[in-house]
Order: sequence, then structure tokens, then C-alpha cells
Amino acid sequence: MSRAEHAVSSRFAFDRAPRRVYWELTRACDLACRHCRAEAVPWRDPREFSPTEGRRFLDALTEFGRPAPHVVLTGGDPLKRPDLWELIDYGVGLGLPLSLAPSATEALTRDVIRRLKDSGLKAMSLSLDGSTQKLHDGIRQVGGCFSRTVEAALDTVAAGIPLQVNTLVTAENVEDVPDLHCLVGVIGATRWSLFFLVPMGRGRVLGQLTAARCEELLQWLVQVSRESRFVVTTTEAPHYRRVVLQRIRAERRNRGEACQSAIRQGFGLRDGNGIMFISHTGDVQPSGFLPLVAGNVRAASPVEIYREAEPFRRLRQPERFTGRCGRCEFREICGGSRARAYAASGDPYGEDPLCPYQPARRASADGGC
Ligand code: SF4
Repeated sequence: MSRAEHAVSSRFAFDRAPRRVYWELTRACDLACRHCRAEAVPWRDPREFSPTEGRRFLDALTEFGRPAPHVVLTGGDPLKRPDLWELIDYGVGLGLPLSLAPSATEALTRDVIRRLKDSGLKAMSLSLDGSTQKLHDGIRQVGGCFSRTVEAALDTVAAGIPLQVNTLVTAENVEDVPDLHCLVGVIGATRWSLFFLVPMGRGRVLGQLTAARCEELLQWLVQVSRESRFVVTTTEAPHYRRVVLQRIRAERRNRGEACQSAIRQGFGLRDGNGIMFISHTGDVQPSGFLPLVAGNVRAASPVEIYREAEPFRRLRQPERFTGRCGRCEFREICGGSRARAYAASGDPYGEDPLCPYQPARRASADGGC
């Protein structure tokens, strides 16, 4: 790698610490959504962490140093763990920023949401895949889920907890996305994350977008993100950053302004590069959607696994990716969905088939003009 490439690469590499740690507290969940990544079941796995192991794991995360990674408590449904409150208290006491991704079940009452606010939680996320009961419940195949989700979302906003709404985008609901955008605004969420389907777990039953339709949607998203009162992000579609950057540059060219890189916070973040996932049994993966186990936190330090283990090290080296993503001038800020590359070809370092971009040449690695 040249010195210039190395300088750019370091700028977007999260070599020392992840920005976000997703901890799957349990796979137990009272819902049975047909596209569940975790293939959740109603009962808890006896191999889950004990409360003592949970606290020990939170202690180990502090060894990443400052700033501490943001820990997202996910599942299954984290509310299925009776020691959830104790773990939140403990993590908050350690100075770890914590968020919760609960399921919209009857357990998520207004009182529970108020208690979550009082516990010091930084944010909460809920999933909405359709703008109406018929669409959302039809996609999830769980009756009554839509109204419970909207009620819990309104209660979360009312309690003063910043709310992220997650939407799974598939061929089935793509035409409903503009209506969902309106609904997210009405609810008062602070963030909307569109998750682009990776065909794994029970998600294999759903239809994926074509690369061309995805590109159209991302172009639309750039436009509406400017008019929204909430932040719009994508999950497993990092080429949204390429679309944003291309749009900004085109506009500057049209205005006759100098074309400089417009780099935003979060650029470069992708599976294994700023993101780490811990399963309910302690297995460490680059993300929940990329099932490459790099170690287990029952046997090794999460810091050591994140910094030293393959595939983490290689996932932070986009110059070693293959196909279009390896040649792409946007590979540092984007790099493609490693989870989708793996699901499509078995090669986590291959190209992301959801992006139609044809790299022009090996320009400066941040896509500079
Ligand atoms: S080709 Fe790969 S690296 Fe380039 S923009 Fe598309 S997904 Fe990103």
C-alpha cells in the first residue's frame, strides 16, 4: 500500500476499538417473525451468559478505553432476561453508553419504558416494516404487532428516550417506504435506519431488491434525508455513502465550486470495522449478519479478538477485497456489505451484489476528485 493509501485507510479504520457492540443477550422472543435473523424461539437457551458472566463481559468492554463503544442490547427480546435491569445498571455504572432493541410484545409496557428511561439508557430501537397494520403484520406474520409497535414507539418518545425506527427493506415492502418515512416523522423518532435484507436465517424467505431498484431508493433517500427532522441511515447498504458523496460532488460541480471530499461521521463503518457482535453464547462475529466466528468471550478478551483475530483484521483492509469492491475508489468509506457478499458467494471479501456501481479506476482511496 502506498503512503497516501495508508493515510486514507487509517482515517476510516476502526483498528483499536469498535464504535458499536451488538450484544445478543438471548435468542428468546415471544414473537416469531418470519424473517428473524436470530431465528428466535420462545424459550431461553441454557448456554446463555449467567448474570456474573454478563457483568464480567461488560467489565471487559471497558478495556477498549475511551471513548467507550456504544453497546446495543439486542436479542431475541432482551426483556426475556430477568437480569436485564441489573445488567443495565451495571453497564451504566461502568460508563458504557447503552441502547436497547426490544421486541414489541405485551412486556414492553409504558411503565417498563419509563423505567428504561430512569435507568440511564441512551436510546431504544423498534422495528416497523410497513406503514399499516396489514403491511407490517403481513411481512412479520405476527398479528397485532403493528399497533403494539406504534404504541411503544409513541411511549418511548413521550418518555424522552431517543428512538430509532428500523425498517427492513425487501421486494415486498419497497413501494411502502415513502409512507413509512411519513410515519416515522409522525411518531417523532430521532433516527430511521433502513436495513437492506441479507438473505440469512429466516430472512431467506423474503425477496431481495435488485441492485437497480436499490440505487433508485438510495437516490430518493439522499433527497428525503435533507428534508427530514430525523437522521436517515442504512444498515448493510454502505453504498449509501457513495451515493451521498456523488450527489454532493455533482452539486458542487454544478455550482462551479471546488470539488473536495465531503466526509461524514460514520463513513467507513461496516461489519468488523467499527462493528462487533456477541452472540447469546459468547461467540464473536463481525456483525449479526456475518456468521464468521472469530473467538468466544468466555475464553478470550473481546479486545484481543477485535484487534487481532481474523477475520476482523482482514475486514479492515478493503484493499484486500476482491471484485468491484476491491477495485472501487469508494472502498474506504463504503467497502460494501461484507455480510451480503458472504451470503451471496461464501466469500466475505468479495463484491456486494446489491451495488450496481462500476468502479472507474483506482483513484485516491477516499474517492477524491
Ligand atoms: S462497488 Fe463496493 S465499495 Fe464500491 S460503492 Fe459499490 S459496494 Fe461500495
